Amino acid sequence: MGFFVSLDALQRPTSVEEMRQALKPAVPKRAAPKRAAPKMAAPKPGAGSPKLGTPPAPGDMPAELWTRIQDHPCYSQEAHHYFARMHVAVAPACNMQCNYCNRKFDCANESRPGVVSEKLTPNQAFRKVIAVANEVPQLSVLGIAGPGDACYDWRRTKPTFTAVAEAIPDLKLCLSTNGLALPDHVDEIAEMAIDHVTITINMVDPQIGTKIYPWIFHDRKRYTGLEASTILHERQMLGLEMLTARGVLVKVNSVLIPGVNDEHLATVNAEVKKRGAFLHNIMPLISDPAHGTHFGLTGQRGPTPAELKAVQDACAGGANLMRHCRQCRADAVGLLGEDRGQEFSLATIPHDITYDPAKREAYRAVIARERDDHRRARHDAGAALRAAGSATRILVAVATQGGARVNQHFGHAKEFQVYEASSAGMQYIGHRKVADQYCGGGDAALGAVIEALAGVDVVLCAKIGDCPQNMLRAAGLKVSDAYAYDYIETAIGDYYANEYGAPPLALGA
Ligand code: SF4
Ligand code: SF4
Repeated sequence: MGFFVSLDALQRPTSVEEMRQALKPAVPKRAAPKRAAPKMAAPKPGAGSPKLGTPPAPGDMPAELWTRIQDHPCYSQEAHHYFARMHVAVAPACNMQCNYCNRKFDCANESRPGVVSEKLTPNQAFRKVIAVANEVPQLSVLGIAGPGDACYDWRRTKPTFTAVAEAIPDLKLCLSTNGLALPDHVDEIAEMAIDHVTITINMVDPQIGTKIYPWIFHDRKRYTGLEASTILHERQMLGLEMLTARGVLVKVNSVLIPGVNDEHLATVNAEVKKRGAFLHNIMPLISDPAHGTHFGLTGQRGPTPAELKAVQDACAGGANLMRHCRQCRADAVGLLGEDRGQEFSLATIPHDITYDPAKREAYRAVIARERDDHRRARHDAGAALRAAGSATRILVAVATQGGARVNQHFGHAKEFQVYEASSAGMQYIGHRKVADQYCGGGDAALGAVIEALAGVDVVLCAKIGDCPQNMLRAAGLKVSDAYAYDYIETAIGDYYANEYGAPPLALGA
């Protein structure tokens, strides 16, 4: 049996979801290629730096390095428009306590706290990965990211990754760790071709660490205070250096805690860059008394979007920044910003299940063409911005459901992607979540949306009704649905050129 891709569906402006629907099963199973252990030297600090204001692209780094990140939705901002990750919660044990974590809920390293995850055995996780890979063609990454620590709970992490790598060799393996037990497993990580590791590093000054970590458990002993933070810091730096020396790509996550480490994170950025970290992801503390964490219960607040951006901007020129993190749940499935985890609960997965690569292979062929087209559009949009010749800098919020296009109705948006644009270029600076979608939530929800969009100049969406449009305008926000289904960059470039471009010289002037 062959497979069929509906070209009609793919040639018109379309969302990734529509593309997914256009992919029909099924091709005969192929012999899967063997996963090769990464052999390249550690990327030089700063390798992969994008040109100002643009996401990393093939020309910005060695081809071999680009190949390793091009389909990873977290390591490549471009890829997050097209590719999906899934997390499996197989490693619940942890060897320390962070003041922002309550392990009855998801791990704050990589998760949105507040909802208990379905904890899985390695065998259950394996079956779930196969089920998702058969149904979600965008899937490119399997991560183990809490609750708990993937290195400390290695006896569950290792068999899970081993089984999946055997069945789906092209799936990227990704683990997150607090770093304390990391040095004990670096050699195995490299041997198993786990090519992406995230270490949460909130400080490089153990005095600051005493405000974040009440205790650690190391070498069969519990440590507290400065001694605990000093051991943690030394183990994190050692683990980072060992990984980069073996060519593993390392992302460093830092939780931004106002008044605790906000002024310190530029130093963290410089230190991890020095040790070869590929990416630095500064995430806002999520703190709520209902989560039962120390910070939540003691009133420690998280940063505002403006505070987060200020700290990220202070790190400019250092380690590359990830700005598109969604602080996903520990059992998240799907594109960043969406969660299809509920579709794949254990009860729905057959006991005997076989991997079928048909949908993933067909999707990749389509996306390869789409990405080439998107790059050309980005290039043209950059030229349009430069030609506008304006010093005005604006923030643009975009309603999108993937595929790098303005393709979501305003009322359906659960989040907006925010870009900064000026004649110097365009830069993705983050996302703004909204508590309730306008459709269904009415005027109260609209008020919360307007609040979430504080500081934004214009909203671009696929469609918006007169009523919300008028209310946005009354709140000082411009809005346009004239760019429905255009690439995001094309829409922003065109909007900017129209609004701020120098008018043509008057005849005779
Ligand atoms: S390392 Fe992760 S699971 Fe452990 S306490 Fe910190 S946030 Fe929680
Ligand atoms: S939490 Fe951030 S880094 Fe981790 S999978 Fe989600 S978007 Fe990627």
